[in-house]
Amino acid sequence: RAKSAGGNRFELADPEADARAITRHGLTTALPAALERGEFFIEYQPLVHLGDGSVRGAEALVRWLHPQHGVLGPDRFIPLAEHTGLIVPLGRWVLEQSVGQARQWRERHGDTEPLRINVNLSPCQLTHPGLVQDTVDILERSGVAPQTLCLEVTESALIGADDDLLKPLRRLAEMGVDIALDDFGTGYSNLANLRRLPVSVLKLDRSFTQGMQQFPADPVDLKIVEGIVSLAHSLDLAVTVEGVETGAQAEQLRILGCDTAQGWYYARPGPPERLHELALVDAAG
Ligand code: C2E
Ligand code: MG
Ligand code: MG
Ligand code: MG
Repeated sequence: RAKSAGGNRFELADPEADARAITRHGLTTALPAALERGEFFIEYQPLVHLGDGSVRGAEALVRWLHPQHGVLGPDRFIPLAEHTGLIVPLGRWVLEQSVGQARQWRERHGDTEPLRINVNLSPCQLTHPGLVQDTVDILERSGVAPQTLCLEVTESALIGADDDLLKPLRRLAEMGVDIALDDFGTGYSNLANLRRLPVSVLKLDRSFTQGMQQFPADPVDLKIVEGIVSLAHSLDLAVTVEGVETGAQAEQLRILGCDTAQGWYYARPGPPERLHELALVDAAG
C-alpha cells in the first residue's frame, strides 16, 4: 500500500503486506464455498483433570483444509468470518459437529462419565438472535445433555457486556450448559464483575502458564494465580488452565488448586479417534 508521506514523497509499497492483503481478500471470498464444500474440520484437544490425570473432555478447534494453502489455523480465518458474518453458520456447524462427536464418544465410551465438549463462541454469535434456539435444537437432535456442553466466550467479549448480551448466555446456563470465560486474565476485567456473569468456568490464559515454566516458578506469578484460583473457587467457578507444555507447569498448577488443564504436555489437538483412545487408556489404567 503506497502511502503519501506529505508533499511529493511516497513510501514504496510493501510487497509482503500487499500479498497478505490479497490472501486475506481471497480467503474471505472463498469462505462461503469452503463451508459448502466441507473444507473445514475440527481437531479436539483433551481437557485433563489435574488431580488424577483423567481425560474429562475436549475443546473443539476448527481448521480449514484450503485446496491451495493447506491447513489454516483459526487465527487466519475466524476474524475474516467474523467480519463477513459467515461466523454464524460456521459456528453453528462447529457446534453441530462437536455435539455429534460428544454423542459418539458416549456411545463408544459406555457407562463411564461422559466426555464433555467445549466449543468456542465468537462475540458475533452472542449477538445473533438464533443462538439459544440453535443450541437447543442441536442438543435435542443429537440427544446430548446440556450438561455435556461448555461454551467458551473470551473475557474481552464480555467486558462491559450489558444485560442484552448476557441474556442468551443466562438462558443457556439455566438449561445446564456451562459457560467458560476464555483467555481469562488478559482482558483487565473488573474481578467483582465476575459475579454478574453467568459463567461457571474460568480458563486461565496461557500467559500465566508460561510464568510457571521454571520450578519453583516466579513468586509473583504464583501469588497472582493463587489469588485468581481462590477467588474463582469462592465464587464456585472451576479453573481450567491453557497451554500446559511441561510436567513442572502441571505440577505447580495442580498445587495451586487449578482443576483442569489443557496443553501440549498432555496432547496436541487431534482427530476425534485419538481423544477416544486417550480416554479409554485412562479408564483402563
Ligand atoms: P483458544 O480458545 O484460547 O484455544 C486455545 C489455543 O491454544 C488453540 O489454538 C490451541 O491449539 C492452542 N494450544 C493448546 N495447547 C497449547 C500449548 O500447550 N502451547 C501452545 N503454545 N498453544 C497451545 P488454535 O487451535 O490455533 O486456536 C486459536 C483460537 O482460535 C482459539 O483460542 C479460539 O479463540 C479460536 N477458535 C478456534 N476454534 C474456533 C471456533 O470453532 N469458533 C470460534 N469462534 N473461535 C475458534
Ligand atoms: Mg477456547
Ligand atoms: Mg483459550
Ligand atoms: Mg488462549
